[in-house]
Amino acid sequence: MKQSTLTQFLAIKNKNKSDSSSDSESVVKINSSPSSSELSDDEETSESSSTDNQEARKRKSSLKPNKQSTNQKKPKISNMPRKIKNRNKFCDNWKMDPELGGFISKSDMNSQHAHCNLCKKDIRGSIYNVKRHVKSIFHKQNVQAMKCTVAVDQFVQKPEVQKKQLFDDSVKDAELRLAGLVAKEDISNRKTDSLLQVMKSCFPTDAVCQALASSRTKTTGIIKNVLATEEKVQLANWLRNNKFAIIVDESTDKSWTKVLVIIAKYVDANYNVREVFLGLLDVHDASSAGQKNLIMKCLSDLGIPIQNLMGIGFDNASVNTGSVKGLGVLLKEEVPNLFILGCTSHSLALCTTYATQKLPEGL
Ligand SMILES: [Zn+2]
Repeated sequence: MKQSTLTQFLAIKNKNKSDSSSDSESVVKINSSPSSSELSDDEETSESSSTDNQEARKRKSSLKPNKQSTNQKKPKISNMPRKIKNRNKFCDNWKMDPELGGFISKSDMNSQHAHCNLCKKDIRGSIYNVKRHVKSIFHKQNVQAMKCTVAVDQFVQKPEVQKKQLFDDSVKDAELRLAGLVAKEDISNRKTDSLLQVMKSCFPTDAVCQALASSRTKTTGIIKNVLATEEKVQLANWLRNNKFAIIVDESTDKSWTKVLVIIAKYVDANYNVREVFLGLLDVHDASSAGQKNLIMKCLSDLGIPIQNLMGIGFDNASVNTGSVKGLGVLLKEEVPNLFILGCTSHSLALCTTYATQKLPEGL
């Protein structure tokens, strides 16, 4: 009886483990055996016990394929999404993380470590350690230094850029020379376009000549804003440190505006006497005192000391050559040794006039 109960227990246990129909049939068979064993004698019970043992062995043997079947199902279980993330391993998403600034990459020394390309330092651990490094003072100092550092390739221009830069400089130089020629030779600005067309037709293969775009307006702008400005700066630098004289004259233009022209006369570094335009000033006070103030203001605006003025030339108008309140006398108050020279042509004309009056009337 004990063996029959044992077989029953095994059968019930197998029933719970397996779902196959064969198992259920075996269970039915096992369940039927105790009922027969209960009704049989001891011999029968012994025989039944032997048969039960055989069935139990069969049952055990039948359990083996069941285990295999369960093992075959296991892979389905293993395919379930059961991934254990290694949080200490470098992840490619860190490269694109804006919070990390794009400085993080995989370490060459250890594929599981991160590497800061800015600090040249490996970072071991999870994303938490990487973020902690990015927020560190050392990393922030390197970021600040990188922003203030100019890339080396910016100091070296590419050959194409250098070639284009050279070509542009050549064109600018040619335009400046052309504008200088127009200003020096007193060529009318209206003839600049015609001059440029002739030049382009004469040099059709010259790229610089073909690229010239010095129209009348552009040439005038170059003369006024580039050449005149630079010439005035150089003139002022020379007059600040050397003696010079000025020639002044008053005139009235088409708009009935009185202007005072100032020409500087000096000896340059090559001992050549030069007369250079210094200024054209509007005259609101035509008296000698007003003209003196204009001259003083013109020199002071350019930073030229009045003590460098050696002489002044003007026409023989009384407002200039007056012996009491003339312009020359007023300027002598600032420069006592100032040399005053009237207009030689006017003086010669006066001399000849008075000389002819002394001649006999019969001549
Ligand atoms: Zn760093």
